[in-house]
Amino acid sequence: MSGASSPVDVIVVGAGPSGLVAALRLMDLGLTVLIVDAATAPAQESRAALMHAATIEILAEMGMIEELLERGVRTRAVTLADGGRRLARVPFDELDSPYPFALGIPQNETEAILSSRLEQRGQRVIRGVHVHTIGLIGEAYRVKGTRVHSDEPWEASAAYVVGADGKNSTVREHAGIPYDGASYDEDFILADVELAPSPMPADEARITLSPHGVTVIGLLPSGRHRIVATAPRGRETPREPDRAYLDDLLRTRGITTNTRDAPAWSARFRISHQIARRFRAGNILLCGDAAHVHSPAAGQGMNTGIADAFELARRIAEARAGDTDALDEYERVRTHAAEAVVALTDRITRIALVRTRPARLFRNTAIRLLTRQPGIRRALVRSISGIDRSPLPRPIPPMKDVR
Ligand SMILES: Cc1cc2nc3c(=O)[nH]c(=O)nc-3n(C[C@H](O)[C@H](O)[C@H](O)COP(=O)(O)OP(=O)(O)OC[C@H]3O[C@@H](n4cnc5c(N)ncnc54)[C@H](O)[C@@H]3O)c2cc1C
Repeated sequence: MSGASSPVDVIVVGAGPSGLVAALRLMDLGLTVLIVDAATAPAQESRAALMHAATIEILAEMGMIEELLERGVRTRAVTLADGGRRLARVPFDELDSPYPFALGIPQNETEAILSSRLEQRGQRVIRGVHVHTIGLIGEAYRVKGTRVHSDEPWEASAAYVVGADGKNSTVREHAGIPYDGASYDEDFILADVELAPSPMPADEARITLSPHGVTVIGLLPSGRHRIVATAPRGRETPREPDRAYLDDLLRTRGITTNTRDAPAWSARFRISHQIARRFRAGNILLCGDAAHVHSPAAGQGMNTGIADAFELARRIAEARAGDTDALDEYERVRTHAAEAVVALTDRITRIALVRTRPARLFRNTAIRLLTRQPGIRRALVRSISGIDRSPLPRPIPPMKDVR
């Protein structure tokens, strides 16, 4: 048997971006924490590639801004196009934030920054432990797991348990919380690949709408581009799309560029939109993908998880100090945020997937007209950047030399 001999304040299950932020923030607030993950090593896939302003603000508040700005590339606007024709440009520089941009930074880099901060604080992720049982003994939770390499049992006790263990959360299952929602009909594909010529200026992300599907392209710090797209219908989607498949997809959607090399990473995936019916059961709390998943439109998954985790740490610290409403308040505020994100991403996905010619003409005209209105443009950019749902009080102090 191995694990922690004396109880801690909080056990965080899952060391993805949500779990790492929760653990770090809880430590900032003076609580004792253990963070445990089933994976024996950090994930190497780039996954979430866009960090929005609200997340940059949170990680700046936690003292990580220099590393982020050094490793990420700044995206200053999102453009919308129908085939080769630009419909609208939505600039982030209209944001009321010291960081009026999004950062192109792969999720594994973000996790590396968070993990190294954890190590600087004298804490490490306990890796290779699959948590399988959570029991309540008196006022403490006993969390039990198995070491994946040796099958040796592991256990530890805490006053609170944070389930940051992703979409198929064991913690959520143990808490008996249903995960309501539905899946989209489409297959999606993702590829990190070098494109030439670049289909848009280096500081823009582009969403191309076409009757053949939706394609989002942004620049990564490696110089490669991230492509996320709905897969063509009527043919089988390959598990790992190759150059020929991607070149064909770009050509049929009117995007005038070609791959230069084999993708560094490519994948096929299906998505759903789901929200946990409760974000808490007693002192077991959910955050990140364990609490909600949605369409990749506008890159909200990791960003929303980090905001949950930051808010959750504050509320657990308040509850520990005797505030009996704090955890209900967490659930109320972040359920509302998750519902807003699901509604936003669902709306974008459905608008983008319109196929008939009259509906597309109507949609394109509406996009052109609406995005010319400064008030609507600002509301859109606040929503996409997450500032509308941010747990940080405003105004955020300015940052020198950041533009
Ligand atoms: C292909 C792909 C592309 C994506 N692209 C984007 C994007 O462009 N933008 C965006 O914002 N989001 C994107 N996402 C979503 C984003 O990656 C997730 O929203 C994000 O990882 C959620 O973070 P998390 O910490 O909540 O959960 P996760 O990152 O899933 O981390 C959960 C952790 O819990 C651990 N774990 C699970 N079960 C147990 C257990 N029983 N015991 C111990 N540990 C356990 C896992 O090993 C894992 O490390 C993408 C996801 C995928 C798969």
